[in-house]
Amino acid sequence: MNFNIKKYKDDLLFLPLGGAGEIGMNFNLYHYKGKWLIVDCGAGFAEDYMPGIDLIVPDISYIVEHKKDLLGIVLTHSHEDHFGAVQYLWDLLECPIYATPFTNSFLRSRLKENNVTHANKIHEVNSFGYIDIGPFKIDFVPLCHSAPEMQALVIRTDKGNIFHTGDWKFDEKPILGQVNNEEILARYGKEGVLALIGDSTNIFKENYSGSEGKLQDSLCELIKESTGMIVVTTFASNVARLEALFAIAKKLKKKIVIAGKSLIRVIAASQDCGYLEDAGDLIIDDKDIGRYRRDKILVIATGCQGETLAAVTKFANKAHKRIKLSKDDTIIFSSKIIPGNDKRIFRVFNSFVKMGVEVLTEKDHFVHVSGHPSQIELKRLYDLLKPKNVIPVHGEHIHMHAHAKFAKSIGVPNVIEVENGDVVNLSGKRAKKIDKVHAAVLGVYGKYFLAASSSIMKQRRRLQNDGIFIVNLVLSKQNKLISEPIIFAPGYLDEKQDKDLLQYIINEITNLVKYDIKKSKKKGAEENIQNHVRSLVKTILKNEVGRIPEIKVLTHRI
Ligand SMILES: [Zn+2]
Ligand SMILES: [Zn+2]
Repeated sequence: MNFNIKKYKDDLLFLPLGGAGEIGMNFNLYHYKGKWLIVDCGAGFAEDYMPGIDLIVPDISYIVEHKKDLLGIVLTHSHEDHFGAVQYLWDLLECPIYATPFTNSFLRSRLKENNVTHANKIHEVNSFGYIDIGPFKIDFVPLCHSAPEMQALVIRTDKGNIFHTGDWKFDEKPILGQVNNEEILARYGKEGVLALIGDSTNIFKENYSGSEGKLQDSLCELIKESTGMIVVTTFASNVARLEALFAIAKKLKKKIVIAGKSLIRVIAASQDCGYLEDAGDLIIDDKDIGRYRRDKILVIATGCQGETLAAVTKFANKAHKRIKLSKDDTIIFSSKIIPGNDKRIFRVFNSFVKMGVEVLTEKDHFVHVSGHPSQIELKRLYDLLKPKNVIPVHGEHIHMHAHAKFAKSIGVPNVIEVENGDVVNLSGKRAKKIDKVHAAVLGVYGKYFLAASSSIMKQRRRLQNDGIFIVNLVLSKQNKLISEPIIFAPGYLDEKQDKDLLQYIINEITNLVKYDIKKSKKKGAEENIQNHVRSLVKTILKNEVGRIPEIKVLTHRI
C-alpha cells in the first residue's frame, strides 16, 4: 500500500477510513488541492471477536501522517457513530472542529469529562450555515433524523459539488426541527451534484421508515393503557424520542424519573440548547417515587440493548437501588433489537416476563421508527438531487451493496462500491476507485488502542476459549530440579477438582527433566528444556482433556 498522494494533488478524492463496512465509527476524508477534510469521527460497538473491548474507533494513521495538510473535522450530528471518537482521536489530529450548537455543546461536555483540551478549536455553525475551509466551501443543510440539528453537507469545490448526507430520513411530522426543505434540495440538484455519499442503514425497508410524530401518538396510547408504573427505554442519544416522552408525560400528567447517567447528560446538553424545555417541571428524583401513585410514574431508562451495566438490566436483575419493577408494571423497548445484541436483549425480556412485568417491543407493537432512509426515501432524495455518482457508506457490506444495486435501479449513472481504505477519484471523467490505504478497526482498551488483528487480541481470544497452562521450573546449573515443578492453569484446570491430573503432570515433568534432558548442553539449554516440557504437557493434555490451551514453560536458575 504505497498510495502516492502527490500524483493526485489537484484531484478531488474521497477516502473512508471508517463506516464503510460497519454501522458505526464513521470517518470520511475528502481531498482537494493538497488539503484534507474529515467528515465525522465516530466510535462503534465492538463485536465478540474482541474480548474485553466495548468500543471501537477507526485506525486513522493514514491521515495522521498527513496531519500538516489537514484543515479540520466537520461533524454532521451528535450520535456516537459520528462524533464518539473525537475524545480518543483528537490528540492525534489537533485540527479545528466545525459543528452546530447542539453537537458542539454535547462535544464540549464530552471532551471536558475526558480531560481533552484544545476546546478553543471548536467552531459553531448554524443549520443552513456556511463555512469556507481552504478549497472546500461547505453548506450545512438540516435533514430529519433522531438527533437534533443533523446536517447534510454540500461540499463545493471547483471540480463539482459533493452531497454528504449524514444520517437522515423523510418525516412528515418530525419532533425535532422542520420537515426536509425539498425546494432547497431541488436547487442543489439543479446546480449539479457530482457525487452523493450516503446512508445505507435502512436499505432493506421498502416503505417509509415512519414518522416520529406518529410514533408519539402510538406510544401515548400504550402508556395510557398501562395500569402500573411504566418504564420506557431507548437510546439516550435519541432526543426526538425523549422529546416525545416528555410531551406524553405532560399530557397524561405523569412524573418522569430518569435512570442512567448517559440520559442525564443528554438531557442537560439538550436543555442548554433549548430542547426538552419541560424537563424541569416533570422530572422527579428516584428517591421520591414512593410519594406518587405508581401509575403516575414514567421511568425513562438506559439499556435498550441489554447493556450489562445499564439501568434496565439492573431492573431485570432486581439490582437497582431505588427502582423496583413488579407485577402490573410495563416496560416498553422503544428501540431496534440490533442483531448481535439480540441474545442479551432477550435475556432481559425473559427476566421481566418472569417477574410478571408486561414487555412491549418492536416485534409486536408500534414502539420504534428508524432514523434512516428506506428505499422510497432514497429515491425521493435522489430524484431531487440527481447525483451523477453515488457512493454508499454507513453500512455493513450487505447494506452498501444493496444500496448500490438500488441506486443503479433508479437510474443513478455511476455507483461506486467502497470499503474502508479505498481511495475514490471524483474528478476524472468517470469517478472510480484508484488505490487503497491502510484501514483497520482499533479497540479502545483504557488508554490503549488494540488492533483486532494484533497478537494481544489473538492471544486474548485463545485465552478466552481455553485459558492458560503455566509451568514453572526451578533448576540448578546442572539442570537438576531444585523443587517440584509449579503449575498454574487459570481458566483451564481446577486446582482441587483436577488435583490428580495436575500431580500426574508434575511427576511426568519431573521424570522428563531427571532422565531425558539433564544432559542438555549449556548453549540453548533453556529453550531445549522449555520445548521438551511443553511438548510433554501438550501430549498429556491432548489425551486427558482433549483441548489444548496456551502453554508457557518458565525456567529459573539458582
Ligand atoms: Zn445518527
Ligand atoms: Zn449514524
